[in-house]
Amino acid sequence: MEKDISKILLTEEEIQEKVKEMGQLISEDYKGQEVLLVCVLRGSIIFTADLMRNISIPVKVDTIAVSSYGSQTKSSGVVRLLKDLDEDITGKHVLIVEDIVDSGLTLKYLRKILEQRNPSSIKVCTLLNKQERRVHEACPDYYGFIIPDEFVVGYGLDYDEHYRQLPFIGILDPKIYKG
Ligand code: IMP
Repeated sequence: MEKDISKILLTEEEIQEKVKEMGQLISEDYKGQEVLLVCVLRGSIIFTADLMRNISIPVKVDTIAVSSYGSQTKSSGVVRLLKDLDEDITGKHVLIVEDIVDSGLTLKYLRKILEQRNPSSIKVCTLLNKQERRVHEACPDYYGFIIPDEFVVGYGLDYDEHYRQLPFIGILDPKIYKG
């Protein structure tokens, strides 16, 4: 599996250090409040699990699943809701937890559907920010790393459902998806 990675972009240590910092910042910003983390399946599961263990204020977690990619490395341009939240978010402080914001389409869609449910607040936290590919107006409130326009896997991120368990984030060798 590791032979399919052309370059390690972020090591396990770098990721863990950053997640700790993000957890501390979120704990300070929401001090005295409870926050509902919305884990966007499936890419954010590992990030959410690590992030919540670095948050010192009360948190709850819920999951939502959307799809815009299929098994390719380019967005299909259409977002579909695959699994809705289980919780009612009315009056709650919602923090959407994303693995990566790329074109911004997924985030724009998520914000739109969740804002209609009258939460007290909605913010967005993403580990990776592929800023140069942004097409849709979608600005994360917290991000860990700005990364270049490369297809990355590991730490929850996949290609065709593989590589999620890698503890680091690496650039996938284009030979894998270009054949
Ligand atoms: P967006 O809608 O274009 O911002 O894409 C967001 C979603 O695309 C993310 O939640 C990921 O699931 C997926 N994605 C975007 N870039 C990558 C990548 O480099 N590796 C793996 N998945 C990615």
